[in-house]
Amino acid sequence: MSIDQLVPTTGRPPVTVHCPATGEVVGSVPDTEPDSIAEVVDELRAQQPAWEALGPKGRARWLFALRDWLLDNEIHLEDVLQSETGKPRTEAGLEVPVIAEIINFYAARAPRDLADVKLPNSGAFSLTKSQHKTYRPHPVVGVITPWNFPLLMPAMDVIPALLAGAAVILKPSEVTPLSALELARGWREIGAPPVLVCVTGRGDTGAAVVDVVDMVQFTGSTATGRTIAARAGERLIPCSVELGGKDAAIVLADADLERAANGILWGGLMNSGQACISVERVYVEEAVHDEFVALLTAKVRSLRQGADDDSHSADVGALANANQVEIVLRHVDDAIARGATALTGGAPTGVGTFFEPTVLVDVDHTMACMTEETFGPTIPVMRVADADEAVRLANDSVYGLSATVWTGSRSRGDAIARRLEAGAVNVNDMFSNLFCFGLPHGGWKSSGVGARFGGASGLHKYCRVQAVTAPRFPTLTNEPLWYPYTPSRG
Ligand code: NAD
Repeated sequence: MSIDQLVPTTGRPPVTVHCPATGEVVGSVPDTEPDSIAEVVDELRAQQPAWEALGPKGRARWLFALRDWLLDNEIHLEDVLQSETGKPRTEAGLEVPVIAEIINFYAARAPRDLADVKLPNSGAFSLTKSQHKTYRPHPVVGVITPWNFPLLMPAMDVIPALLAGAAVILKPSEVTPLSALELARGWREIGAPPVLVCVTGRGDTGAAVVDVVDMVQFTGSTATGRTIAARAGERLIPCSVELGGKDAAIVLADADLERAANGILWGGLMNSGQACISVERVYVEEAVHDEFVALLTAKVRSLRQGADDDSHSADVGALANANQVEIVLRHVDDAIARGATALTGGAPTGVGTFFEPTVLVDVDHTMACMTEETFGPTIPVMRVADADEAVRLANDSVYGLSATVWTGSRSRGDAIARRLEAGAVNVNDMFSNLFCFGLPHGGWKSSGVGARFGGASGLHKYCRVQAVTAPRFPTLTNEPLWYPYTPSRG
């Protein structure tokens, strides 16, 4: 029996997948019975040793084959991505090339990063013992992912986990499961060993994964992350959680305002603001506040919104579902009720689940739009007296994922970065840290806990470290501390 046949599809109605831009049904997937997950994981556990035995170079060859399959099927994958997210075509086209680069990056460095590390001369017996540490994978890793980047989010975790030698059970979001199923289909079609399986379903299916795997890699909301981390704590299994954010942008008076407005425009509205590292709030120094707001508002008004196709005729797409529209509307209404003004946008629009790109001014920290994650196409802008006030307000958050600083002085930008409580800071740039794969990606505070994506730690987080020693001179068996104790050894 193949691993996929182990997942029963009976007993529950399937999960229906809609295109948020049109409301059309675009697919349906099994709502996997939580009870069936243990059997799938047992089968993965049985397959994993042979996968690990291939070694990093052997595994990398399969990942390169997956990369080629993804690139060969790029247009189809864009179609699937677009159908389940309602993203503009340009944004649907971003995921496969980035995934190909992640494979190139990690497959190339896996043999070096996962090689045994020989340790010379450490400790009392260093001259008589050879010592090394070795990276051994967690046998079965559970990867649980959100809906905002339905192919990229699974791939970012599945690729390094497989390269590390783990078998992977992937549980994508029930809102956008189709792209993740394509990733698993690609793995099967290249004929790779059966160490990757994608199970669809809702939160209870994800919870069942957490109950039986050896390590959990979760990306999603802070509330779910907290539940998963608590369960992982009970089971004493390692767990890495990448969670929500409320990223601040700080615009100083000496900034190139045109560049800052362009960066914040994209950072706030890309993917309709549904990125964990979206710009969610902006603090602008008094002296340039009005000029910046005028620039930003004009740019927002020039954007095209709607359902597009390969004509690339839309800049801003739909929100994932009606629930997201409700959250965004609640934040905008709350802000306006407390004295804010929407200079443009401010309401749901269109046939699908669209929300107008929105600029809010006269906002403050009593409003939900400045404190809770909005995850929508809103850019609230707050006037501040100076950089000190901007830093204080930026740090006034339970979240600490990333931030941006816009200034004419690199050294001033670096100095402000050091004062910000955020896992990443981009100075005069947008999202760039995420694409520098050698850098750690992950949040502070309620934005994430655990080892990071990026660099060697992105592979090592899927491994257990083992210390191995052996006598350097096997003929010298007369060990000084072993039985029997004698006076001469005392
Ligand atoms: P979510 O937490 O609702 O769901 C994420 C996944 O967890 C889904 O697959 C869901 O089915 C599953 N799940 C739900 N309850 C579960 C449970 N009890 N046990 C196990 N699995 C369970 O998140 P979402 O709404 O899909 O995604 C949006 C959130 O993801 C936002 O908060 C966003 O900031 C965050 N996010 C963070 C990053 C990052 O790298 N920090 C990246 C992307 C998205």
